[in-house]
Amino acid sequence: MSKNDNRNFVEQIADIETDFPRWYTDVVIKTQLVDYGPVKGTMVIRPYGYAIWENIQKELDKRFKATGHQNAYFPLLIPMSFFTKEAEHVEGFAPEVAVVTHAGGEELTEPLAIRPTSETIFGNMYSKWIQSYRDLPVLINQWANVMRWEKTTRPFLRTSEFLWQEGHTAHATEDEAMEETMKMLDVYREFAENCLSIPVITGRKTEKEKFAGAVATFGMEAMMKDGKSLQAGTSHFLGQNFAKAFNIKFLDKDGAQKYVYTSSWGVSTRLIGALIMAHGDARGLVLPPAVAPYQAVIVPIAAKKGGVMEACAQLKAKLEEAGVRVLLDDTDNSPGWKFNEWEMRGVPVRIEVGPRDLEEGKIVLFRRDTCTKDFYPLANAVQEVETLLGTIQKDMLEAARVRRDSRIIDADDVDGILKGVESGNFVKAGWCGCRECEDKIKERTAATARVFAPENTHEKCAVCGKKALHTVFFARAY
Ligand code: ZN
Repeated sequence: MSKNDNRNFVEQIADIETDFPRWYTDVVIKTQLVDYGPVKGTMVIRPYGYAIWENIQKELDKRFKATGHQNAYFPLLIPMSFFTKEAEHVEGFAPEVAVVTHAGGEELTEPLAIRPTSETIFGNMYSKWIQSYRDLPVLINQWANVMRWEKTTRPFLRTSEFLWQEGHTAHATEDEAMEETMKMLDVYREFAENCLSIPVITGRKTEKEKFAGAVATFGMEAMMKDGKSLQAGTSHFLGQNFAKAFNIKFLDKDGAQKYVYTSSWGVSTRLIGALIMAHGDARGLVLPPAVAPYQAVIVPIAAKKGGVMEACAQLKAKLEEAGVRVLLDDTDNSPGWKFNEWEMRGVPVRIEVGPRDLEEGKIVLFRRDTCTKDFYPLANAVQEVETLLGTIQKDMLEAARVRRDSRIIDADDVDGILKGVESGNFVKAGWCGCRECEDKIKERTAATARVFAPENTHEKCAVCGKKALHTVFFARAY
């Protein structure tokens, strides 16, 4: 068997239509995004996956700084006693916290939590740093890892340890803190749409689904190809809950001591899971150019023929100069093997350079999102590639939007919600606001309240028939 025959691509990935969960696992492992870590529930993010994360970080970090935030780094270990200071917070996180009880061969006098999130330690430090209205607002973000002990895990979607960013801000007034909460939710939305090509639904969450310790949580929900929802980011208005728990007070202009108002907001490596499941297809990954590790791959056809490799190398240099992330696949695998490999790994544009086309001054550009190809003049190659990358970025968003919008339906009762989510839809339904009705929907349909719709378009609660306070997006969720 020659080297070129040792893989059968069609068999490599499970069928996306009939076995979506298996397809997902196959894709994350076989495209070398991740591997399983030796400790159950942990993942190794491999270079191809980490490159996506780095691009996500770069884009988000730019936006955080443009909105006035600074980065800092807080310790991984947090005294356990901090968690007991905010009652809802400790209740929400207690089951997931990993605790260090021994170090240096001795039992510690106080057990230490490995951060599951950092509101408490930020609160502790902010109480020292904030004294006067002049110290406000404080706008800090950290890029870090967190640990939440999970029973069932899946790479990127739910793992014991993951990477994220967490913004923690403190403000003099309620309005300012709320404005910050909404501003960052909108930063996430814009990023998701323009960099990940994922249309998201943003809105407030129910009491049941909100962050433990928040006054209000706002989320952004993305539809995956199986019709399930993935919470892709959250922004929390924390009111004075953490300010009171950690005694974060300031002397205001009027001479009075007041508690600050705080917010927190985060997105994580879950976003990579969202990318995979929002865009992937039967052949594997489909990556939007803004975050793809390689935006283009050059595949030489009949590489030994005169001039082909030289033309490829020249093109690569020109593209790099223009800022395109490009790979020249000069391995001795066959062109067909390379086509399959880079299609599976989701590279947005493939550039085919062959001797006959070269003679005619042409190259072939294949676009991964539509799996179509066309001839382009070699002389104009850099500009053509750049234009095509921009087109793909926009078209992927548009395709995802059309797909999603065709799968949002309305329902008037629980049966309607069940039927809707069973056939892979987001279902909008009225809700009276009571916990019992929310629980009943989850029991009967396995769908949860994702976010409130911006407008209430339903008169009655789908469960009890009383007046609807909100129209809610219900979906099965990751
Ligand atoms: Zn009800």
